[in-house]
Amino acid sequence: MAKPVFKAYSQQQAFLLPPNLEELIAANHPVRVVNDIVNTIDLRLLVDEYKGGGTSSYHPSMLLKVMVYSYLVNIYSSRKMEAAIRENIHLMWLSGMQKPDHHTLNRFRSERLKGVLKQIFVQVVQLLAAQGLVSLKEIYVDGTKTEANANKYTFVWGNAIKSSKEKIKKQLDELWQYALQVAAEERDLPEPPDFDKIDAEKVKETVAQIKTILKDQQQVSKQVKQKLNYAEKNWPAALDKYVVQEQTLVGRNSYSKTDTDATFMRMKEDHMKNGQLKPAYNLQISSNNQYIVDYSIHQTTADTATLQAHLDGHKQNYGAYPQVVVADAGYGSEQNYQYMETNHIEGYVKYNYFDKDRNRKFLNKHPFSSDKLYYNKEKDCYYCPMGQPMQNMDTSTQTTATGFKQTLTKYRAVNCEGCPLRGVCHKSKGNRVIEVNHSLIEYKRKAVERLTSEKGIYYRKRRPADVEPVFGNIKHNHGFRRFMLRGKEKVSIEAGLLALAHNLRKKAA
Ligand code: SF4
Repeated sequence: MAKPVFKAYSQQQAFLLPPNLEELIAANHPVRVVNDIVNTIDLRLLVDEYKGGGTSSYHPSMLLKVMVYSYLVNIYSSRKMEAAIRENIHLMWLSGMQKPDHHTLNRFRSERLKGVLKQIFVQVVQLLAAQGLVSLKEIYVDGTKTEANANKYTFVWGNAIKSSKEKIKKQLDELWQYALQVAAEERDLPEPPDFDKIDAEKVKETVAQIKTILKDQQQVSKQVKQKLNYAEKNWPAALDKYVVQEQTLVGRNSYSKTDTDATFMRMKEDHMKNGQLKPAYNLQISSNNQYIVDYSIHQTTADTATLQAHLDGHKQNYGAYPQVVVADAGYGSEQNYQYMETNHIEGYVKYNYFDKDRNRKFLNKHPFSSDKLYYNKEKDCYYCPMGQPMQNMDTSTQTTATGFKQTLTKYRAVNCEGCPLRGVCHKSKGNRVIEVNHSLIEYKRKAVERLTSEKGIYYRKRRPADVEPVFGNIKHNHGFRRFMLRGKEKVSIEAGLLALAHNLRKKAA
């Protein structure tokens, strides 16, 4: 039998010339794209973040390359970056064999990049646009809720604060009524306090007044005395705490105590399938040709409320609004339609019932819905299915959760008594009343016209193939499911690094 032959193997083999890492990096490797792009862009703003004097710092250009490349290869933790810089030949090359530790890397990410990263990202997108890889005029917008680095069991709920305040109000009122009842014989009893608005001062004042009223009374129960002492000791502090918590909520209904900027949201990726809400951020992106053109972080669950701020950001970054915006039905609101029209943006945005309105089965199921009734604009009246005119009876204004004012008009049928269609037409007791928003109806009409045009059909087909794969790629292919940093500003930096890494990965592909 022939003896096996092995290649010569020696770990002590010396190099004839000192090795050059550059030679070991493949010419078309993505690390070269990161290196070239960071070398191309203007980093003056980032350099300005460093104060003069003191000990020397690692070069921001090197740290930025390391940071972006780490995100590109799915390394998101600063400790793992520190380890990789010592092991990964590409990071060794980028860092020039320097070895910043995780403190330095983390400080760079969360402090130095604050307020600077967006400008860096914008430069990169402009470079891509100059190379014809991406267009800033035509964008596809979508959002994804991404888990925050926060404890899901330490929460504050706006509704819980409201009900605790109501409970205090009610108990205080009961104590006050009790005191009046016990001291009914007394003259010169103080005026009852106004419990509409309650705060620590009012509680202290009211408890003191109740104690004064009951001071010389014989038959005051022990429980009432205990309750008054409890109220005096605990309620003012609780109300002071609620004030601080309400200031933190600012328009939200919840936050996590370990990251007060994170809001509890229902996640799409619900692996336990128990519908549990988790502290998260709403990451909005706009894409073109599957590149990320812009990103923004929001604390609200509804995508509708994010569009304006997101597009204002686009204008701020690139000097003009995009000409075309394509988004799904989650963005189709009167406020957004009006905003796009005012800013001359050609919006291809569905509204909630767009698809159902084109579904014959659904239409046949609801033949008498208000949007099927004929409206006579000159006479300002609708005609019900039996041909009766429905007269304008009232116009009111309502404010949405985002502060937008809507005008709603009510129309009422003259007489539904004895109508053969009653029961299928409507189920209310009196004559049928419908409430319509004329402005929204007009915006929807324009949206349908646009979305069903040749261009509209193209954009509707293109949207799920442009923006949605970006999230799929980041979350599923590259395993980014939870932010590492805390606070909206720092989370925004992470979103920027993810976006930069995504764009450079795509450019290198
Ligand atoms: S029920 Fe009233 S609103 Fe409906 S068709 Fe009859 S008359 Fe008209």
